[in-house]
Amino acid sequence: MAEKPKYSVVVPAYNEEQIVDELYRRVRAVMDGLGEPWELVLVNDGSSDGTLDRMLALREKDGRVKVINFARNFGHQIAVTAGMDYALGDAVIIMDADLQDPPEVIPKLIEKWKEGYQVVYAVRAKRLGESWFKLITARLFYRLIYRITDVDIPLDTGDFRLMDRRVVDALKTMREHGRFIRGMTSWVGFRQTGVEYVRQERFAGKTKYPLRKMLRLAMDAITGFSFFPLQIAIYASLILAGVAVLAIPVVVALRLSGQEALEGQATTLIVLLLLNSFQLMFFFILGQYVARIYDDVRGRPLYIVAEAYGFDDSGPDEGDTKSD
Ligand code: UDP
Ligand code: MG
Repeated sequence: MAEKPKYSVVVPAYNEEQIVDELYRRVRAVMDGLGEPWELVLVNDGSSDGTLDRMLALREKDGRVKVINFARNFGHQIAVTAGMDYALGDAVIIMDADLQDPPEVIPKLIEKWKEGYQVVYAVRAKRLGESWFKLITARLFYRLIYRITDVDIPLDTGDFRLMDRRVVDALKTMREHGRFIRGMTSWVGFRQTGVEYVRQERFAGKTKYPLRKMLRLAMDAITGFSFFPLQIAIYASLILAGVAVLAIPVVVALRLSGQEALEGQATTLIVLLLLNSFQLMFFFILGQYVARIYDDVRGRPLYIVAEAYGFDDSGPDEGDTKSD
């Protein structure tokens, strides 16, 4: 039987057929240089192109490549979760498939791990080849999350990180559906540190994170780690009540002095629309939380694995297709 890996490199991929081979080549070059056993856990997140075939071809050549094939597309954060559930290493490294996170950074993460840190996240000192829209929204997003959440989620940090076995085991007990893994890793604690790196351009293909998925991730991050949006309603209601209380004597005074100010339906209508839009906004916020409660209460599994290749026994010890 194969040696138990010391390091697991977990890579989720969705329609990345152009990248898989190059990813393997670079990961292998780096990991072989370390001289310790490793595995590459590839998660095929319901790709509709040749991603799975490429992965299986690599597995034919190199038994250290393991493949988890999802029954459909479940999304990046869920794919990462599955990879962590199956990974066997003492340290687990999460990386994107598109080589924006250069594998050459991994030895630096491992160095810190050997110094005794249990989470070593890679901080983006610079991002190459991203659109200005992505740069601005990402920058705003990280700062907003940092401000309103209750955990210290490091700025400008994606999912590229190394986690000790103990951290991975702790994360495996957290089965929430709206997943923001960066926040969850901060939440579990342990000794954490960062290593700076330059985020590269995508090796090939286009981003698999359209605006819709970015917004969903942002909502998962906010609802998962903050109650602040729920509290905004009370501030808004206090401000509006304050305005009303101030307005009453003003209106009475104007009436008594015989002025015909504040006439007209238009004003009333506009105020009505504005107040209603506030209310609907809070409905939306409430709905975001309620939907996530519903998602968790149903207790559906986080993902469904169609096939898993390279895992001897029946898969992960926790959090596979069973709900728990
Ligand atoms: N990804 C995935 N499932 C999805 C979307 C993305 O597994 O539904 C993977 C994708 O293949 C890549 C990583 O998540 O390895 C990050 O995606 P991408 O590079 O498109 O995001 P960006 O870097 O543009 O934010
Ligand atoms: Mg990318």
